[in-house]
Formats: sequence, C-alpha cells, structure tokens
Amino acid sequence: MKHLIVLTGVLLLLITSCKTSEEKLVEKALKIHEKATTIDSHTDTPMLFTREDFDVSVRHDPYESSTKVDFPRMKEGGLDGIFMAVFIGQGSRDSLGHARANAKANQIFDSIYSVVGRNTEIAEIALTSDDIYSIEKEGKRAVYMGIENGYALGGDLSNVEVFYKRGARYITLCHTKNNDICDSSTDSLEHNGVSPFGKTVITEMNRLGMLIDVSHISDKAFYDVIEQSTAPVIASHSSSRVICDSPRNLTDEMLKKLAKNGGVAQVCILSSYVKKTPTNPQADSMRMAIREKYKNYENLSDDQQKEAGQAWRSINKLFPPVLATVQDVVDHIDHMVEIAGIDHVGIGTDFDGGGGVDGCFDVSELPNITIELVRRGYSEEEIIKIWGGNFLRVLKANETLASK
Ligand SMILES: [Zn+2]
Repeated sequence: MKHLIVLTGVLLLLITSCKTSEEKLVEKALKIHEKATTIDSHTDTPMLFTREDFDVSVRHDPYESSTKVDFPRMKEGGLDGIFMAVFIGQGSRDSLGHARANAKANQIFDSIYSVVGRNTEIAEIALTSDDIYSIEKEGKRAVYMGIENGYALGGDLSNVEVFYKRGARYITLCHTKNNDICDSSTDSLEHNGVSPFGKTVITEMNRLGMLIDVSHISDKAFYDVIEQSTAPVIASHSSSRVICDSPRNLTDEMLKKLAKNGGVAQVCILSSYVKKTPTNPQADSMRMAIREKYKNYENLSDDQQKEAGQAWRSINKLFPPVLATVQDVVDHIDHMVEIAGIDHVGIGTDFDGGGGVDGCFDVSELPNITIELVRRGYSEEEIIKIWGGNFLRVLKANETLASK
C-alpha cells in the first residue's frame, strides 16, 4: 500500500511537471479569478427583460440569442457581482419627455426586482459595498443597480433620493446626447460642462453617497464634476483615449485627475471603443437605414422598439463585425494602470449594451481577461484590485462620506 501511495505520488508529480507552461499559467489565472471578488460595473442586461424569448435563469447561446448575460453564464464566468443599468435613451427635454423617462426608469427598476425576486436561489439585490461579500458566500450573484442617463430624474432633483431608495447606487450623468445635467461627449456644446441644475444633482448625490458616473459626459463636464464632487467618482464603462481615439474614452490627463480624486475608471469592452477595426460598407449602410427608420428611439412604441432590436440583431448575424480582442482590452488596462495607478482601474463590460470582444464575447468568458493579466505579469493582489477591489473601495468611500 505504501509503495502504491509513493508510486501514485511520483506519477502525479510527473503529470504535473508534464503540464506545459501555458497550462500552468491558465491554472494559476483561474485560481486567482476564483479567489477574487469580481464585479462588472456596467451591463445593459435589463433591456433583455422585455424579450419574451429571454429568461435570465436559463443559459443562452450568445450568438444565437444575441445576449451576453444570464445567471448560469455569470456563474460560469466567475462573476460575483453585476451592475444592471436602468438605461434611458435621451428623448425630448419637455414635461412629457421627462414624465415618460421617469416612468420608464421606474418600470425598469420593477423589472429588475421582479427578475431577481423570481430567482432568489441564484441571485440577490445588493445595495452596499459589503453586500457582495455576503452574497458571494451564499454562492449567489449580487445584483446592483445604476441609472444610465440622469434624464431619468425627469428634471426633478428630489428623484435622486427616490432612486437611491429604490436601490440605484450610481447615476451616469448623461448618455449620447446632452441633457439638463450636462453635455455629452458625443454631442455639441450646450452648457459648457455641467449645468446649474447638474451642480445641484452632484451635491445631492454626494449627500446621499451615490456614485457619480462620468462615463459618456463631455471632457469639460468631467473636469467640472471632479472639481465639485466631495467624494471619489467612477467612470463605469470608459477606456483609454490614447489607446483608442474615441470621445467616449478618457485622456491621460483625465485619468490622472480621476486617480487624484481617489476614483476608478472601469475599462469598457465595447469593441469600437477598444480598437478601430475594418468595417463592412454593406452592413454599415444597412445599419444606417435602421437608424434612419427607427430614429427617435425613445418615442417608439414597445413593439417598434422590439422590431428595431430584431432588425439590428439580424444584421449582426448576417455580417458579424470584426471585433477587438482580449489582448486589445488588456492593452487599455496596461496603459490606464501606467497612467492612473493600479488602485484606479477596473472593468465595466457594457454587455448587452454593445460590449463584447473576441475571446470575451459574453460573461462566461471573463476569465480570459484574468488569463491575459497573468500572462502580462500582474500579481494576484493587483488582479483582485482590478476585478472589484478598487470599485468597492470607491463605493465604500461614498457610503462613509455620506453618513458623516
Ligand atoms: Zn453606455
């Protein structure tokens, strides 16, 4: 028996030493990934909740279903916590538009609570920076909520607290168009940064301990926020402009300011913000035609919105876009860490809002980012910071500053 044990030991040793260095690297990375408390600070998954063919408790094929997140794939990808965005596209800024935006936001909150409520054995709503740890211990997924586009406030400051009480822990101040709060990075100059109303929103968010999200806002609005905010801020899904030139990405100067503010920039893995890749003219013109047909998206009926979504997905199936890769994503992380420091970088995928690259096409493939980080020499401690440590530190700081 003793001989057998020794022999088995020797054999095991042999098998282990037969592993290629690549296999060892992957093994090491997966261990770190498993150990880390991982959080994705931005997904648009609630947009799927109105689709009849989508059940978040069931595993979907990302290519067949054009979906990037569901609870089984979250588990597979080792993702412990997720921010589900209450996304409101920018519509008209009059009383009717504001009322619609506010009502729609409330509807989306309802849908998140109802989806999580139907899946209490796999997921739980998370509200504080500590919640993720206790929910993770129960083997469940933590679902945080953030609002994408302050337009959801409907121009009413008191709604900041209403939404905080509903569970929102950040507000992305605007989306692709200007709103009453500030200018967008992808629109023309209107307020020259943050508006007077926007300033009151920032003060109120600081008071409550709600994270201010600077993704999507114009450069000047970014600097206005940094100057005014008394708490560290986040960019829930923004990459590096030096690595990929897009107004949606952060310049080095912005990254430095963000680090000085104590905040965190969460790398976005939406391919066109990661790397410019060749496009297909035929597909482009078909996409243009859809944009033209369904413009003023926010004013479309639910059925028309579904129709637009289907048309968009069918083009993507016909002409799969050439995507950036996991290596390209980690090029952003490398640069952002170099400029802002290891304590100020994280990950916000934008899954189900356009996010996904080759090698990390959906949430189940997140460990591939960790593998690449290990390959580039990041330590376990550094990876744990990137995967959530930094973000949770900022959330905690906001909680603490609010209760003072
Ligand atoms: Zn976005």
